[in-house]
Amino acid sequence: MKDESTSTSTPTSDKVYVLLARNGFRCAICFQKDADATYLLVPLSYGGTEVASNLAPAHACCARLRHDIEGSDPEPPAEHKDNLTRMLNMSVMRQTVLSLFYCAATQRLQKKHRYQYVRAEATVKDLISNLVGWGFRGRTDLPEGITRADEEWLKSSSAWRVVTESAYALLPADSPRV
Ligand SMILES: [Zn+2]
Repeated sequence: MKDESTSTSTPTSDKVYVLLARNGFRCAICFQKDADATYLLVPLSYGGTEVASNLAPAHACCARLRHDIEGSDPEPPAEHKDNLTRMLNMSVMRQTVLSLFYCAATQRLQKKHRYQYVRAEATVKDLISNLVGWGFRGRTDLPEGITRADEEWLKSSSAWRVVTESAYALLPADSPRV
């Protein structure tokens, strides 16, 4: 009798199967066929969740080695963890910050042309500049539902560093630092 629990080559859920099939069973990390697993583009440690849009197909072994292969960091910088949690707990910031991390995580995966290697860091930088720090100070449409203290903090260089250094930690290292 076949033991399903030890099978690693058979996708276990319909959701995973559909995702793998939609991508032609091509691994998003090594770009070869026969992907048999999925992984979170924005890892749990960065606030990512298991929604379909955050899942990518991969070989189980590639997913395990993902950060070694990409040269990215499995964890955001330790000194920013508490402040990153603080930011992700602000409902008005959560989706924007997660979108930024998604963008950083997929820069290498989405590249189709050579120039996009060069654009990767600039794209991430542009997104951050409108999100926190000086860019936030310039906003005329201040988001509702955040405290005065949070608002002041979001305008600070401290908040800017939390987002910037976390996004860069997730950015694959073969995107040239421009
Ligand atoms: Zn692979």
